[in-house]
Amino acid sequence: MFAPPVNRLIGELAKLPGIGQRTAQRLAFYLLSVSDEEALPLADAIREVKETVGQCEVCFNLAVESTCRICQDERREGTVICVVEQPGDVIPIERTNEFHGRYHVLGGALSPIDGVDPEDLHVTELLERVSANGVCEVVIATNATTTGEATALYLADALRERSPDLAVTRLASGLPVGSDLEYADEVTLGNALRGRHAL
Ligand SMILES: [Zn+2]
Repeated sequence: MFAPPVNRLIGELAKLPGIGQRTAQRLAFYLLSVSDEEALPLADAIREVKETVGQCEVCFNLAVESTCRICQDERREGTVICVVEQPGDVIPIERTNEFHGRYHVLGGALSPIDGVDPEDLHVTELLERVSANGVCEVVIATNATTTGEATALYLADALRERSPDLAVTRLASGLPVGSDLEYADEVTLGNALRGRHAL
């Protein structure tokens, strides 16, 4: 319908989560309407993150160096690990100021229907970290969704089998059922962390 470069931009924008065809069109026309100085920093920012940001080799959080800032921070307790699904889940937990341990990012949640099995997540690495480093508690902070709950139960079993003395805890309820961690407010999430219980 439009010139090929415009169609291409709309097509790329429409692939973003939560952006439908109409919003993609609106954003594309916005970008066409502003100056180069206003539009191009977006393209540069996308290129820069893709070229410089990778995964922490310890916890799989986002990292600019080989390990992330949390893993590099000596003041963080190494004996407690909080397990989350995605790197974006670290941020709301950090905002609560209730957690001073370290993280482990799984890279998703178990979902056999969608073909996501334990081998597709960073489960082995978690089990290795826990048995190697004197970890005494693993807080499972996967989402309060069907797949998040199934993942929590699977991990609790796997962790207990490997390290019988380990405390495996889950965030307290109070988080909206069926919702993703990233949408929880800090107060609710802080309460859920403080009230975590054994799995
Ligand atoms: Zn890390």
